[in-house]
Amino acid sequence: MVSKRLQEIPASGTIAISNLVSQMKSEGIDIVSFSMGEPDFTTPANVIDACCDSLRSGNTHYTPSMGIPALRKAVADVTRETNGVPCQASNVLITPCKQAIFLTALAYIDPGDEVILADPSWVSYEACIRLAGGMPVYIPTKFEEKFVIDPALIEAAITPRTKMIILNTPSNPTGGIIPRDVLKQIADIAIRNGIKVMSDEIYESIIYEGKHTSIASFPGMFENTIIVSGLSKSHAMTGWRLGWAIAPEEDIKAINKLQSHSISCAVSFVQDASVEAITGPQDARDAMVAEFRKRRDLALDLISEIPGIQCNVPDGAFYIFPKYDADLPSAKLAEILLKEGHVAVTPGSAFGPSGEGFFRLSYATSEEQIREGISRIKKVMSQL
Ligand code: GLU
Repeated sequence: MVSKRLQEIPASGTIAISNLVSQMKSEGIDIVSFSMGEPDFTTPANVIDACCDSLRSGNTHYTPSMGIPALRKAVADVTRETNGVPCQASNVLITPCKQAIFLTALAYIDPGDEVILADPSWVSYEACIRLAGGMPVYIPTKFEEKFVIDPALIEAAITPRTKMIILNTPSNPTGGIIPRDVLKQIADIAIRNGIKVMSDEIYESIIYEGKHTSIASFPGMFENTIIVSGLSKSHAMTGWRLGWAIAPEEDIKAINKLQSHSISCAVSFVQDASVEAITGPQDARDAMVAEFRKRRDLALDLISEIPGIQCNVPDGAFYIFPKYDADLPSAKLAEILLKEGHVAVTPGSAFGPSGEGFFRLSYATSEEQIREGISRIKKVMSQL
């Protein structure tokens, strides 16, 4: 028997659909997949070269559990210089992106603790909270307000058991950005109530309007924040599993305890390549962001032609989160789209109760696939 802890956790909704899509494709079915939040580009060549060089030079051993000094410094420098977060190399732990979230939850959440997060939110936050014994406290957000979380609702949800607030800007699944003034209000609430913020900034460089703000850049907030981010999305490095946590030294030491008992360290040669990804030329990253913007506009144009569907213009990440009128649950809609239309989307309900009535479409795929996939969605929706 698996543990009670695990029995209560569903498998990841995003990964489950992606596995199903892989299986259908292997059976020869022509599927257009908008399910996985994964750039279709290959990792930039300079990063691949740096990885091969590292391997050839024999860098196949453990590294320090916190990560190699050059990478910790590169992450701290870029975060300080780009986002104004007052961090140094000693504030950085190198670890796979999702692992950073999982370890942070385990390090800080005790059984019975409450964790505040936006509804809808990325699928695995709730699982990480529950695996640590905590309770998610969802704050509903609204389509009409571009899914921006309301600080007043955060404040009203705080109880003596509140341990953490999870933020994700730009957001998966909505592509929405939390405006700077709203982040400042949340920072004030967190400081006033002594609550830690885990700020997931994995989409920080995929922004189409304005500039990313890290909540840790506000005065007094660095001490209260654990930033998690990584290279998966920005540098098309999903398969490399390289990310980090940035926090005050005592927090990083605590999280590193878990790292030392679990994966020991991130992959050695991937860490070398990641120094190049961060400190080398950024033209490939910038070109990918420009391409995502074109694809976003194309996907929005095409989806707006479907009767009964409405969509916000997302300012970041590579998702659109359309609302549909058809009277059926989003899991059922996703199933019909996949089985009858051979097009994969993620049901909105996978992201929390307020996601019902929506579906998520990742447009990190080619223009051709976007055209074909949305025309399949249109056809199926017209028959509902
Ligand atoms: N973060 C991506 C997504 O939401 C990859 C899958 C996952 O980590 O859930 O599709």
